[in-house]
Amino acid sequence: MSRRISILGATGSVGTATLDLVSRAETGSFELVALTAHSNVAALAGLARRYRPEIAVIGDGAFADELKEALAGTGIETAAGPEALIDAAARPVDYTMAAIVGSAGLRPAAAALQNGSILALANKECLVCAGDYFMDLAQQRGARILPVDSEHNAIFQAIYPGHDKHIRRIILTASGGPFRDWPVEKMKGVSRADALAHPVWSMGDKISIDSATLMNKGLEVIEACRLFGLPSEQVDIVVHRQSVIHGLVEYIDGSVLAQLGSPDMRIPIASTLAWPERMETPAQPLDLAALSRLDFEAPDETRFPALRIARDALLAGEGATAGLNAANEVAVGAFLADQIGFLDIPGLVADCLEAMDRNAMLPKRFSGIEDALEVDRLARDIVARRMSGIPA
Ligand code: NAD
Ligand code: MG
Repeated sequence: MSRRISILGATGSVGTATLDLVSRAETGSFELVALTAHSNVAALAGLARRYRPEIAVIGDGAFADELKEALAGTGIETAAGPEALIDAAARPVDYTMAAIVGSAGLRPAAAALQNGSILALANKECLVCAGDYFMDLAQQRGARILPVDSEHNAIFQAIYPGHDKHIRRIILTASGGPFRDWPVEKMKGVSRADALAHPVWSMGDKISIDSATLMNKGLEVIEACRLFGLPSEQVDIVVHRQSVIHGLVEYIDGSVLAQLGSPDMRIPIASTLAWPERMETPAQPLDLAALSRLDFEAPDETRFPALRIARDALLAGEGATAGLNAANEVAVGAFLADQIGFLDIPGLVADCLEAMDRNAMLPKRFSGIEDALEVDRLARDIVARRMSGIPA
């Protein structure tokens, strides 16, 4: 039976990996409904010509005509702008891949959830910014959120049905990023290219920088707590440089179940595309004898303060995690644009949260997605002011 699917953020690292699996599946397994991208018209048009969705949407309205021209005569509908992105995401489907990066993906992912179908969630920022809203909405609409983030996908797979109530703790593995062995002194001079050179995974720019600061792991702790309904104390992190074990679940009887696999995002993506069945992937089979050893160590919160900043935000509540996310997005963007140094990223995030807390701008709980987007706007503004030297 053919599955109707939409891919939000189709031109990105997760989006193209998803389409790669679609192209390898038996003909007729998937029918494309919507493909979306932010501003790369050529890439989106190329994917649309190849995969023939009903509609292709470019998020930046300035590219409306360009996209229309690029797909003229194909019979593929085109649309542009943030509202068009939301409308396309709301089209009825069996499965949506939410692979937009950042809080820009919140509204489209929420629109897809309204459908009551499967939401494969790569866009972790949705749960970091508005976790309760997303989890409640899924429940109300009878939708299913399937985690794509490799750690959360591993844990989801390792939770024996009905045994979630017997979990003692879950463990997220971390590769440690490119600077896992660098002293702080050396980290001061990190360049954009150094930070983008991830030792294991090839990913989009924003998550690559988050992996270098370990903010990614901090965001993932928040994501895990909201997704699995666990408190911070029950979510641990272990640095595991080979990235072969992706996540572990420890039960109250001492049993620990883990999911292993080559570090290839097509494995977790495939597990959501085929769910509740399985499908083949071209991922390298795991050769344990060739690997010969797996290493584990505790994360270093002194060299990587983002871990502690994220845990503190989690304890402070929803306002703090949404503020953390937005401040981090702006700081990472500034680092990528060579405007600030690498070690300024966690510093700016911590400063922003402190200023917002002082000014009572961080509610413990949100009453809806609007609250999350308001905190997001305020935090972006504060970090931008800090960077231009104006006190918040
Ligand atoms: P990417 O930068 O490669 O791609 C992002 C996609 O989102 C692109 O299609 C881009 O056009 C679109 N986009 C960006 N800004 C947008 C905006 N303002 N409006 C609409 N669309 C916009 O990112 P990625 O690495 O594929 O990551 C996507 C998400 O998946 C992120 O939340 C990331 O944390 C998560 N994730 C990625 C990986 C990975 O291996 N890449 C692993 C785990 C989780
Ligand atoms: Mg991950």
